[in-house]
Amino acid sequence: MNPFHYQRATAPEEAIHVVAATRGAKFLGGGTNLIDLMKYDVEHPTTLVDINHLSFTQITSASDGTTTVGAGVRNSDLANHQTIRTNYPLLSQAILSGASAQLRNMATTGGNLLQRTRCYYFNDTAYTECNKRNPGSGCSALKGFNRIHAILGTSADGDSDTANCIATNPSDMNVALAALNATVHVQGPKGKRSIALRDFHLLPGTTPHIETALKPDELITSVELPPSRFAKHSCYLKVRDRQSYAFALVSVAAGLELDGSTIQSAGLALGGVAPKPWRSAEAEKALVGAPATVETFHKAADLAVAGAKTYQYNAFKVELAKTSIVRALTLAAQGVQA
Ligand code: SF4
Repeated sequence: MNPFHYQRATAPEEAIHVVAATRGAKFLGGGTNLIDLMKYDVEHPTTLVDINHLSFTQITSASDGTTTVGAGVRNSDLANHQTIRTNYPLLSQAILSGASAQLRNMATTGGNLLQRTRCYYFNDTAYTECNKRNPGSGCSALKGFNRIHAILGTSADGDSDTANCIATNPSDMNVALAALNATVHVQGPKGKRSIALRDFHLLPGTTPHIETALKPDELITSVELPPSRFAKHSCYLKVRDRQSYAFALVSVAAGLELDGSTIQSAGLALGGVAPKPWRSAEAEKALVGAPATVETFHKAADLAVAGAKTYQYNAFKVELAKTSIVRALTLAAQGVQA
């Protein structure tokens, strides 16, 4: 590991000032991803600004039904909070499907939003070709073992052979937040702003090293959840190689608001298949106003993966995603969790 300076911040303004003024400085939350990447020689911060002692650890509900989650709330506390379990079981289920109890006890809401990919070639510096790690160097995964890689959103021009990066976003929490239409609140040297979750993570395009709309000196302060619509009918379905402590090959966050058997509104997001939590406006549109039937769910599934580009080892993800979408929507309609 490379040497670095450590500084504990006591106020958000102090943390932001230090990161803005210090080349190579980064915020340190739970550190469950960043410290690993420092050990792998992938991340080389000059200074770590510890934000664990800032007052971003509350979960609050407003009279209009919105719920605000502080960026420093640990994943375990978020998943097990009564308001989240009751009003947003989709989020609770997604978080509890990820990592291990020990990691969830450390990982924070803000840090989970910024999790970096688990692409083998990104995490192993022996592979010099990685556009995310070394912009312009190439992509080892394109012709490598790309079983875990993306099938959607990988290149701006839709040509799979010229994609710059086919890495997936590894988070489960982010998939649920996408389906729930969350908003990320941030603070920087120029003040505060809000970013819709759907706009927070970026597609790789020609700059796969830029993963989010967050500027390097901006600090995530909270995540806002709109009033709950899917408390009775939601499901987080995660398909992976083993039942625990594994990343998703495909995951589905499905939320339905039903009036009898008619779908009033829907949230549908996929994990494990794209560089960001993948939401299909077309699939959601096909669900709204339609009967909650298997036929409707198949139609939505086809639309959700339309335009998928596959590689040597990950073509199976197309059918797996479609099957998983139908199953997650069916379970959500039945009010049964996966
Ligand atoms: Fe790097 Fe992305 Fe290619 Fe993985 S998929 S090797 S992260 S450029």
